[in-house]
Amino acid sequence: MLDSVEAETGNGSRITLQRPTVVPGRCIGCGLCEYKCPVSGEAAIRVQA
Ligand code: SF4
Repeated sequence: MLDSVEAETGNGSRITLQRPTVVPGRCIGCGLCEYKCPVSGEAAIRVQA
């Protein structure tokens, strides 16, 4: 699910981002979001068994 959130850029302007959000009641713990996370280096989400 994507939530619209307001954020401030480095130059002070405001933008709207679509932030991924886990819906606990629908998560099956498959781990896809962790292993396919586009953030470089360590994933931005951890799935625990
Ligand atoms: S673990 Fe799987 S089902 Fe749960 S949020 Fe990540 S991708 Fe979705």
